Amino acid sequence: MDKTFLCMRCYETFVVDNYFGDTCPRSKCGSIRMFEIDEAILETIIILNQKCYETSCCCSGHISGSNIYIGFHPQLENFLLNNAPSGFELITTSNRKNTGISYSIPREASYSERMRLFSDKNIELYNWASSLPIYRMVDND
Ligand SMILES: [Zn+2]
Repeated sequence: MDKTFLCMRCYETFVVDNYFGDTCPRSKCGSIRMFEIDEAILETIIILNQKCYETSCCCSGHISGSNIYIGFHPQLENFLLNNAPSGFELITTSNRKNTGISYSIPREASYSERMRLFSDKNIELYNWASSLPIYRMVDND
């Protein structure tokens, strides 16, 4: 089955049916940050990273019922506390190495309701990312 990979340096996407290694296939890029990514969240992730909101793993969720999730650089925790899109909860691991936002599509909801939530929440995330200003990391020097 085809999988989509996004290069986190040049933002080129590659649709392949098997994994091709860690390095961006674009000859002049050479990035080793390649993420497998769901199509429904692809543009959102590109926008966030272009605006310096560094993301880690992410998932668009699934109509069968699962979490829509975007992991972020831990330094973004405070920003997310105040600015996460409504309905999304902030998740931080106890070691503070990971922070992220999550929305759960309930498995017990009807098929049409899960379809609606999958679509609406991914559109909300896209609109949220589009509306954000460019992020400036806080310097402590
Ligand atoms: Zn690349």
